[in-house]
Amino acid sequence: MIGAIDIGGTKLAVGLVNENGKVIAKNEIVTGSESHYSAGLESIASMLREMEQHARVEITGIGIGSTGPVDPLTGELGDLDFLPRWRRKNPVRDLGELLGVEVALENDADAGALGEAAWGAGCGKSRLIYITVGTGIGGGIIFDGHLYRGVDGCHPELGHQVVDPSGPECSCGFQGCWESLASGPAMAAWAHEQAPASDSYRTAKQICKLAFEGDELARRFVDREAYYLGLGIANLINLFVPDRIVLGGGVMRSALLFLDGIRQQITRGCRFVPYEKTELALASLGKDANLIGAARVWHNRFGNAVQAISSRAV
Ligand SMILES: [Zn+2]
Repeated sequence: MIGAIDIGGTKLAVGLVNENGKVIAKNEIVTGSESHYSAGLESIASMLREMEQHARVEITGIGIGSTGPVDPLTGELGDLDFLPRWRRKNPVRDLGELLGVEVALENDADAGALGEAAWGAGCGKSRLIYITVGTGIGGGIIFDGHLYRGVDGCHPELGHQVVDPSGPECSCGFQGCWESLASGPAMAAWAHEQAPASDSYRTAKQICKLAFEGDELARRFVDREAYYLGLGIANLINLFVPDRIVLGGGVMRSALLFLDGIRQQITRGCRFVPYEKTELALASLGKDANLIGAARVWHNRFGNAVQAISSRAV
């Protein structure tokens, strides 16, 4: 039984995940910029101990997925804007000491990729790219069963590829990167600019709901979203030609609105590679995907996960 921890922008989710990738218990802690590190760690540890007792199981390891920059090799958190008191702390070392088990940490998009690869929509695919579209755009790349890492174990930033250099400024330093044009907030910001007097298009979720109902303006915003999603995905296909791209995150709960537009861009610009062999699939682990991915981080590091994925690869 693996203890799973998802460190997100506004909350910490904690759970128990069994060896088949099923969440059998979970709880949450709401966090803010004032949240203390050691108190947070104590809460996580006591939640895990309670769940362990209640479910009459034994936690044999802990996996963590975290938003923001992390060092997966040392276990150190980077400059987390949303949890300033957690900066440069090392939950891998500290939770390991508190609970007496091995702990592994990855960026949450990489954790999501590992979860979908093992137990979800990426199962059995040796070249897999997982994309999550929500408040930002992140992604993880798995090749031949191994999580792709850059220099010093760093996580590549798929959301910061430029798709329109005349687009909005992004905190990364560029203008018009994928995240600044196609994340949920980017979609809502564009809608607000086009219809400033309306309250109906304030969030991506609202816009998608209206588009499903046939609202013409919402459909225009959705078409623009699909166009930019499609450009970013087409770039990834041209660069990597993976077997499958798995699409997850809050915005992709409305994926049916976007898929035709995404495919249009792929067909338009990927003709020099066999793009028709890259399958698009929707993430299948549902609302517990982050916890399941976090648990898989432990399996990937300390279990026999790499061999398991490789042996299923075609
Ligand atoms: Zn950027």
